[in-house]
Amino acid sequence: MTEARPLATSDLLCRLREIVDEKGVLTGEDVASRNPGVFMTEIGADAILRPTTTDQVSRIMALCHEAGQPVVVQGGMSGWVRATQTRPGDIAISLERMNQIEQVDTANRTATVQAGVILEHFQDHLEQYDLMFPLDLGGRGSCHLGGNASTNAGGMRVLRYGMMREQVLGVEAVLADGRIVSSLNRMIKNNTGYDLKQLFIGSEGSLGIITRLVLRLREQPTSSNTALVCANSFSQIAQLLRHMDGALGGLLSAFELVDNSFYTVNTSAGRHGAPLPADKPYYAIIEALGSNQERDTELFEQALAQAAERGLLDDAVLANSERARAGIWEIREDLEHIVREFQPFYAFDVSLPVGHMEAYMEEVTTTLKSKFPKGSIAFLGHVGDGNLHIAIGAGTADDREDVESCVYEPLRPICGSVSAEHGIGLEKKPWLSVSRNQIERDVMVQLKSMLDPKGILNPGKIFDTGIQMAAGQG
Ligand SMILES: Cc1cc2nc3c(=O)[nH]c(=O)nc-3n(C[C@H](O)[C@H](O)[C@H](O)COP(=O)(O)OP(=O)(O)OC[C@H]3O[C@@H](n4cnc5c(N)ncnc54)[C@H](O)[C@@H]3O)c2cc1C
Repeated sequence: MTEARPLATSDLLCRLREIVDEKGVLTGEDVASRNPGVFMTEIGADAILRPTTTDQVSRIMALCHEAGQPVVVQGGMSGWVRATQTRPGDIAISLERMNQIEQVDTANRTATVQAGVILEHFQDHLEQYDLMFPLDLGGRGSCHLGGNASTNAGGMRVLRYGMMREQVLGVEAVLADGRIVSSLNRMIKNNTGYDLKQLFIGSEGSLGIITRLVLRLREQPTSSNTALVCANSFSQIAQLLRHMDGALGGLLSAFELVDNSFYTVNTSAGRHGAPLPADKPYYAIIEALGSNQERDTELFEQALAQAAERGLLDDAVLANSERARAGIWEIREDLEHIVREFQPFYAFDVSLPVGHMEAYMEEVTTTLKSKFPKGSIAFLGHVGDGNLHIAIGAGTADDREDVESCVYEPLRPICGSVSAEHGIGLEKKPWLSVSRNQIERDVMVQLKSMLDPKGILNPGKIFDTGIQMAAGQG
């Protein structure tokens, strides 16, 4: 059992200062004035360390391990589940200064990057090579590639390219005791024993600090076709997804659902233009990426026309310019208005088989409305991957557990997931048992105890280990 202790003036902090340069340690107002993260109001950490090399991260962790010092890893702070939350006595390590794209290997279509590279910078950088990194999500302007790996981020193009896990070929990570696991594999195939990089992908900074990554790149698409469609029933949407996937022969890259509530909020007067009237229950954004604009547009239009003939959609608008395309995507990506209107705001990110979605949405809506008659609810998300995001404004901030139970309990019988892509952090920790059984949870705790025996890395996140700090979180 290790106890949290005041740190700012401690001997440990003096020793840590010797490892990094003078810009490498923030305390006091420099900590308080920083971005606390989504849905968080303050950074509790006594100090933020900003190393510039893997060796520095390793030396920091060796000292923290020796001292039993809790450490919270921070990437771009765009995560939604309070996984970067700190408390007094914690040290935060920010990877923001480890932001170099070290190498782009065009022959092998790989890149070696430091963990603090911002996703959007990386996407932009690759254009000069006619290559693409397919991961794309709304937090692209601030999230780090290390954070994307640590959360196993999803986003808009999972349907075609997979989640972050599928993009990562190699990882370099620093363990809780400072040892460096260098597993910077550059090949797609490598079945030589356990695939250790997977331990660090999706484990939310609880098993190690990712310092570098080898990422798989794809050819830059040279054609894109985007449409907004509307439908009267969810079963049309589900059939449309299958139809478009089949008809587009592998080009389908995004299939995003927006329900009427969300569409209405974002297209009301003074907000985004409405390409289709707001009078249908469901809308979907469909995007195909390919290599020949003329041929692909013809294929895309044909596929939509067939869908209309078969009654799989009620109306459709095709984007005929980059501006129109961006306008359609803004309706889906802009969360500002919904967050302001749905108060108190609760955001959910669940996963379930597409075949269960309609019944699930009905059940959640009915239960919520019975408990909170004045509550608001909207569904959107990466429906092509079985991933629904749910926005709810209901009750008061004290009703969190009640609101959460409306969303999570119906997932139990259908073996759905309480987190499709955002992770568990502190936010979903009480609900982990909906999606992971006792033995799965025991194995997670055993892995954590083996790699981080003193429980210093991101303590209290995802689950409790029994080796929490005395003032442990959650
Ligand atoms: C507008 C908006 C839209 C979003 N849309 C999506 C979406 O479509 N899909 C999706 O998956 N997510 C989405 N997100 C959530 C978020 O962007 C992702 O979870 C992202 O991967 C987090 O990266 P980050 O660098 O900001 O990590 P942070 O928020 O800083 O940290 C998240 C977790 O990763 C850990 N961590 C960070 N860096 C490292 C590292 N180098 N080594 C070890 N652990 C580390 C932290 O300790 C924490 O547990 C969205 C966020 C916003 C703001």
